[in-house]
Parts: sequence; structure tokens; C-alpha cells
Amino acid sequence: MRITIFGTGYVGLVTGACLADAGHEVMCMDIDEHKVARLKRGEIPIYEPGLEALVTENVTHGRLTFTTGAREAVAFGTLQFIAVGTPPDEDGSADLQYVLAVARSIGEHMDAYKVVVDKSTVPVGTADRVHEAIAETLAGRGVELPFDVCSNPEFLKEGAAIEDFTHGARIVVGTDAERVKTLMRECYAPYNRRAEKLMFMDVRSAELTKYAANAMLATKISFMNEIANLAERLGADVENVRRGIGSDPRIGYHFIYPGCGYGGSCFPKDVQALSRTAAQIGYPAQLLDAVEAVNERQKATLFAKLKQAFDGDLAGKVVAIWGLAFKPNTDDMREAPSRALMEALWAAGARVRAFDPEAMEECARLYGEHDDLTLVDARDEAVVGADALVICTEWKSFRTVDFAQLKQELATPVIVDGRNLFDPAAVRDAGLLYFAVGRGDSL
Ligand code: NAD
Repeated sequence: MRITIFGTGYVGLVTGACLADAGHEVMCMDIDEHKVARLKRGEIPIYEPGLEALVTENVTHGRLTFTTGAREAVAFGTLQFIAVGTPPDEDGSADLQYVLAVARSIGEHMDAYKVVVDKSTVPVGTADRVHEAIAETLAGRGVELPFDVCSNPEFLKEGAAIEDFTHGARIVVGTDAERVKTLMRECYAPYNRRAEKLMFMDVRSAELTKYAANAMLATKISFMNEIANLAERLGADVENVRRGIGSDPRIGYHFIYPGCGYGGSCFPKDVQALSRTAAQIGYPAQLLDAVEAVNERQKATLFAKLKQAFDGDLAGKVVAIWGLAFKPNTDDMREAPSRALMEALWAAGARVRAFDPEAMEECARLYGEHDDLTLVDARDEAVVGADALVICTEWKSFRTVDFAQLKQELATPVIVDGRNLFDPAAVRDAGLLYFAVGRGDSL
């Protein structure tokens, strides 16, 4: 099957590489010429485990190609996937300008039947707007051609994107058209063998399913952070509480880890966008607003704990940070808690010395010019002579620490652990002050 994908970001590139690997012929189109030039040279612009090998393999076999040419891209596939960004607008609603630009471009260049597949996360009703944009552009050309628009939201997570795409729990397709169902079945047949994963539904339900999934996951995190904050003030240990409630199969252990707040390119913007959709139809989504507010407050806790450890005065202090990415196994720093912390520290006159196993290039791109940031090559280099260590991301390589040695290296023995990686007793036995999240006397 010939497939075109618009957008070569985390979703577009993974979708393209996986579908090519499954035997389809795939052309990925992006307006970012620099990105496409790198991809053509075999360089992968993002860090995603396994992606480089998969792209290289499929480019070599001629199943995966890249272009900046819209005409060529539209002519290529019967399926036209839209996987471009939908960042938050000024008021938090999803900005559809990139999605609609692709739609117009498809209308501009198509000369045969196409199925336009919305893979980007888009508000309910967007498929209708995409349909309109294509129809208007075709009318402007004085051309009449059949086409369909369907919704196929993506549920992959960065860091495990290939595994999620190829072995996801479900493949949601929103359409009422039999022709679209047949083509989407063919597209996803390689992933639909062991069990029926394709879920066909109406378009609006498919669009809402994606927001509901992310809002549910964000709610679990904010709920647990709320409990952690209570535990901290009530002298309880949230890690015991977590195990205590997770053992109930109605609750489960997934996604109930307390921490320093969720970040990334999806949860913050999707919770906000769903709340703005609700507001637009006159329904106040109180739970969603609370989830967002709790998360904003949580992201500020690392700084608050540091301030407390230094009696409110952080001017001139050097703070070592382990972990810049919003979660492990990615280089993505969008909305990462580390950013809220660094920006607060700089405003307070402190200096930052930071390390992340994968996000150093991204951090340099975002903050490279900042005088009060030093990026170092190893986690242990960050702590030498620093006044405190803060852990923002739960990378596996941060979990094993010689606390006695850490005590020697830090100028002041303060650890603020935003991910509850350590046993508080072991840290304190080494003579370190340990501030974790929701762990009894850690305040
Ligand atoms: P991204 O920012 O990494 O990539 C978007 C790409 O689209 C960029 O390379 C950009 O240059 C390109 N682009 C913009 N306009 C274009 C156009 N007119 N034609 C072709 N390319 C164009 O975004 P992403 O993280 O891959 O997310 C894409 C969508 O998928 C978003 O709606 C997002 O919410 C959703 N999503 C993301 C994830 C994730 O984990 N990142 C997971 C599920 C769903």
C-alpha cells in the first residue's frame, strides 16, 4: 500500500518507519527543509529507542522516502496521514493552523481519490473542518474529486514509541465509510493478526477518545500528587500508600507514581485543550481544571523545597540537576518540570549545573546562551562542589548512588528528589538531608 505521512516529528516519523517496516511504501513529507535534509542523510533528528535502525533499514530497502514537496507527497499515497503538531493556542485550545495547512495542500494537489487520516491530536469536530478545507480548495480549483476524512488518534508514548505503535492495545478509527474501513484495515493488517485491535467508531467519538485517554492519565498523576502533598503534611509515606492502593485491582499500579508533575508535549496541552473545548460549549470541566492546577503547583514544589532547605536564600547557590527530559528515554523537554525549576532558580539568582543522558543537545538549544547554566558530560561531574542535587527525571542510571561519596562531593549535603528514587533511611544514614515527594518527615 502507498502511504503519505505529513510531519516527521515523534508521531509522523515513528508511524512512517513502522508502516514501511510492515511492508508498505511510505513517503514522509515535512516543511522543515533542515529536518528532511538530515533524514535523507540518515540522521534522526530526535532520540527514540530503536528508531534510527528502523529508519535506516527501511530507507535502504527503498520502502521509506522523505520529501519537502507537497505535490509529490499528495500524489504518492492513497492514505494521507496528517501527523503535524497541534500546539496550544494563546488561550490553551489546540492550534489547528498546521493541520488545516496540510488539508489545503492536499486539496491543492490531489488528482485522485484520497483518504485523509487525522493522526494529530485534534479537538472534536476537526475532521469536519479538514473536510471543509479540502472541499473549499478543490472548489477553488474548479475540480470535483471524491475523498474521505477519518480520525485515527495515536496513543504511542515517547521512549517506547515503536513498541507502542506495533503492539498497542487498540487502533481507533473514526469513520462511517465502508471504503475507509477497508483501506484502514489493510493499512493496519500487520498489527491486527493476533487479536482484533481495530475499533471502528464515529469520528467525533474517536477524536474525543484521544483526549479522554490523556486526561485520564493526567488525572491519575495529579491525584497521586495531591495524596503525596497530604502525606507529607500528615507524616505519612506516600510510597507505602501507593503500594497499598495499587494492590487493589480496581486501581492498579500503573501511573500512580507521585513526583514533580507531568510534562511533555501531550498531557499539559491536551488537558488544557479539552477544558477549553468544554468551556466553548458552556460546560465547566471542573475536574480537568483541577488536574491542571494541581500539576502547575506540583511543578513548583522542587523549587519550594530547595528554598526551604536554604532558608529562602538561593542567590549564588550552585544547584546540580540530574534529568532534564520530561521523562526517561526521550530527549523531549517540552513542559518538563526541569524547565520550571531552572527558570525559578535563575530568577532567584542561583546557578545550574545540569546533566541528562539524552537531552543535552535539546537543553543547549533552549537555554545554551544562559550565563547561569553549565551543561556537564556526566551525572557525577554535576555534583562536585554543588550546594544541592535535584533529581527531575527518573532515568535508570540515576537510581544507584554511593551516598557517602555524594556527601563528600556536595558542598552542602542537600538532595531534593522529585521522583522518589531512593530509600530515605539510606540517604539520611550517609548524613545527607533528603527532601522527597510525600514521604513523611521529608519536609
Ligand atoms: P512534532 O512537533 O515532533 O512534529 C511535528 C512535525 O510536523 C514537525 O517536524 C513540523 O515541521 C511538521 N509540520 C508542520 N507543518 C507541516 C506541514 N504543513 N506539512 C508537513 N509537515 C509539517 O509533533 P509530534 O510530537 O510528532 O506530535 C504530532 C501530533 O501527534 C500532535 O497533535 C500531538 O499531540 C500528537 N501526539 C503526539 C504524541 C507524542 O508522544 N509526541 C503522542 C500521541 C499523539
